[in-house]
Amino acid sequence: MWDSPEKQQSDAWHALHGELSAMGMYSDPDFKRIDGESGTKMAIRFVRHLSRKGVKPDCGWEYSDREEYYKCGCGKMFTFIDDGIKENNFKFCPYCGGRIVEESSE
Ligand SMILES: [Zn+2]
Repeated sequence: MWDSPEKQQSDAWHALHGELSAMGMYSDPDFKRIDGESGTKMAIRFVRHLSRKGVKPDCGWEYSDREEYYKCGCGKMFTFIDDGIKENNFKFCPYCGGRIVEESSE
């Protein structure tokens, strides 16, 4: 059973909206809301605001036990000589510049 295009669009919007509010769309003190502005316009403005501040999207790193490397959200791989992300004080992905978010592998 397929969702209608309207439903898919609104799901996509809700997911994007969740991401943007997690990135501070409502709490960033430098970003002001404009009365009467549509959600879409505000989202576009917020993404531009972030790129002006030099903020990149997060990069999710997932450790592969079997292959002993991290799979990066941007499609690259990375391996540490010893230990992991926290022990080596890595905060940003060396490939895409996004903040590293460690994802649990199952
Ligand atoms: Zn990356």
